[in-house]
Amino acid sequence: MRKCVACQQMMAKKLLIRVVRTPAEEILIDMSGKKSGRGAYLCGKAECFKLAKKAKALDRALKAQVGPDIYDRLAQEFIRVEDEFLAAAAEGDDDDGG
Ligand SMILES: [Zn+2]
Repeated sequence: MRKCVACQQMMAKKLLIRVVRTPAEEILIDMSGKKSGRGAYLCGKAECFKLAKKAKALDRALKAQVGPDIYDRLAQEFIRVEDEFLAAAAEGDDDDGG
């Protein structure tokens, strides 16, 4: 279980989107969950991206300055990966068959 940095809800990791600050100081959505760097988790919901922006939740979680433009970019990136994310979240824990 991990906590969404925006709404503070505890959720299964697969139901959260990982945002990572890479060693190159880039802030990206990490769909693999394996990129190196400091990570923060957000619910896979557009409203939590908005909430995070309002509360500057990623600034705190990633210990970096995250400008409003970066929040906007992440929200747009999230829209692009949303289908993939929802499909992965719906798969369930067992991975027999497919
Ligand atoms: Zn949330």
